[in-house]
Amino acid sequence: MPELPEVETVVRGLKQTIIGKTVESVKILDEKPLINSKVPEFSRFIEGRRFTDVLRFGKYIHFLLDNGSSLVAHLRMTGKYIYQDVLLGTEAGPRTEAGPPTLPENSAHLRIIFYFTDGSKLFYKDMRRFGTIKIYRDGAVIEEKARTGPDPFEKIVTPAWLLEKLKKRKQAIKPVLLDQKLLSGLGNIYVCEALFKAQVNPFLPADRLDENMAEKLLAEIRNVLRLAIKKNGTTISDFRSIDEKSGEFQAMLQVYGKEGEICRKCGSVTISRRKQEQRSTYYCSYCQGVD
Ligand SMILES: [Zn+2]
Repeated sequence: MPELPEVETVVRGLKQTIIGKTVESVKILDEKPLINSKVPEFSRFIEGRRFTDVLRFGKYIHFLLDNGSSLVAHLRMTGKYIYQDVLLGTEAGPRTEAGPPTLPENSAHLRIIFYFTDGSKLFYKDMRRFGTIKIYRDGAVIEEKARTGPDPFEKIVTPAWLLEKLKKRKQAIKPVLLDQKLLSGLGNIYVCEALFKAQVNPFLPADRLDENMAEKLLAEIRNVLRLAIKKNGTTISDFRSIDEKSGEFQAMLQVYGKEGEICRKCGSVTISRRKQEQRSTYYCSYCQGVD
């Protein structure tokens, strides 16, 4: 499932490609992603509109439109946006290598195609069909935004803020960090990595973190996310950026998916895996002080 860095990678790709483009028409091959509109309403909503910006909050993609309305999308397991530039004529031949991917309009798992007035297209593909796209008219309260906590990069998120929030939670720190109402955008991979880097025991009750630990943890959450964004995310299953490139962060993973491998930090203990609320937690028992 894409986490914050993967969504940020997609958003950056969309920013570079669709801002300023006007939707001429839209083809909806599957209406399942449209969770608060039907096909005719969605078409009327989007046709003739120009994308003015693409933003991210948590793991959501927020498409802003020229009339103040917007789309809020979530990729869930396998949602993907693929941009296709105007194809060159036969004289130059189809673009290969560095050029944009060409996607036949009957390719598998295609759900929606946005046709822009300049001839370029944006494809929305989703194999598992859990991804969503919601429409919001000008002035409407974005529900997803109201229910999710701040982004780990926001200014209000300080060690003191984090400590204050954790004080009320007796649950283990790791599942607490996955709670999108606390901080938005963090998922299993980056939480495991950040806890390892900060040398915090993932099973420690959240209310027992001290100032020093909160400071280290927040710094490592940001470091891990920043690095992952720089590497265009992590390709664990089939995540691809908008130009179909794989992420490269998986090469930097220290604990996630490394069960049985020698810890890169202490060099003496093997990485363990244990389930916490149905999710695998990877950790070094020595470096993170787990009994
Ligand atoms: Zn270790």
